[in-house]
Amino acid sequence: MRAKMAYYHLVAFLVALSCFLGVLNASAGDVDPQYRTCVDQCKKSGCIGDACFASCNSSSGGISITGQWSMKEPLYLRWKQWDCQSDCRYHCMVEREKEREVLGARPVKYHGKWPFRRIFGIQEPVSVVFSFFNLAMHFHGWLSFLILLYYKLPLRSQSRKTYYEYTGLWHIYGFLAMNSWFWSAVFHSRDVDLTEKLDYSSAVALLGYTLILAILRTFNVRAEAARVMVSAPLIAFVTTHILYLNFYKLDYGLNMKVCVSMGVVQLLLWAVWAGLTHHPSRWKLWVVVVGGGLAMLLEIYDFPPYKGFVDAHALWHATTIPLTNLWWSFIKDDAKFRTMNLVKKVR
Ligand SMILES: [Zn+2]
Repeated sequence: MRAKMAYYHLVAFLVALSCFLGVLNASAGDVDPQYRTCVDQCKKSGCIGDACFASCNSSSGGISITGQWSMKEPLYLRWKQWDCQSDCRYHCMVEREKEREVLGARPVKYHGKWPFRRIFGIQEPVSVVFSFFNLAMHFHGWLSFLILLYYKLPLRSQSRKTYYEYTGLWHIYGFLAMNSWFWSAVFHSRDVDLTEKLDYSSAVALLGYTLILAILRTFNVRAEAARVMVSAPLIAFVTTHILYLNFYKLDYGLNMKVCVSMGVVQLLLWAVWAGLTHHPSRWKLWVVVVGGGLAMLLEIYDFPPYKGFVDAHALWHATTIPLTNLWWSFIKDDAKFRTMNLVKKVR
């Protein structure tokens, strides 16, 4: 008898646990019955209260609902329907969050995302602005790096190439970084499947590349063959991960683990190297490593947007702006330092 009771308790516990996990899996906001009813009604009528959406009107001619007809619908009407769903979800979310705020409840996630307020249709305006600042910082850094190397520092007399052995690698870095911030700005303006994948893919590509760069620079790998040997397996891994995200499953948890591991390894490499080397600008490395580590915490300890605008992710994008400036300044110092050493040797 006792064993049987224990068995029932166990079953009840497991059922409760699985319900709990199920709720965690969907976001708290979109399982809310009031939100669901709102979205369903909005998609049928095209309106919430007195406010009606243009995106929902054109497709409500009566033919679009049935399955057979929708197959023959022109593509633009399908896009319109998509817009209708997205508009309904957004406005129902805003309404529901207002009600919840009056009741003193904290914001909850809807379909995996925090409730953000849009400005001119831009979904996360603060993150967009910070992404553009990051992009501008990288452009400025890369341009001044270029001017320094080709116009200010001496070039090798015969080949007219730079003395600095990492010039090409930093050029690629500049390109990947600017590419990544561009797609970050696009994704935070309009979150659809394609823009999300482009943002994630370019961020992973950048992070993987900076890991390779960290290894090559801290171990002072200068021979072409050795560089290929170090980068080939990492490029293979990063490519596989990007293909997995795009064509198999966009697994946020797995991606977070991959990105944090690649991030931590390169921060550690730079930190250890900064401790061992007598590089004149090693203090800049220290600041970037500590700042970068603290910034990464913001990305891991996700909190909801303040007033619907500034969340942990937006702050993370803000902290990288000054760090980027200091980082390019370190790269330029490194170019100067290496060039001076090599020129001394040649003479
Ligand atoms: Zn972002």
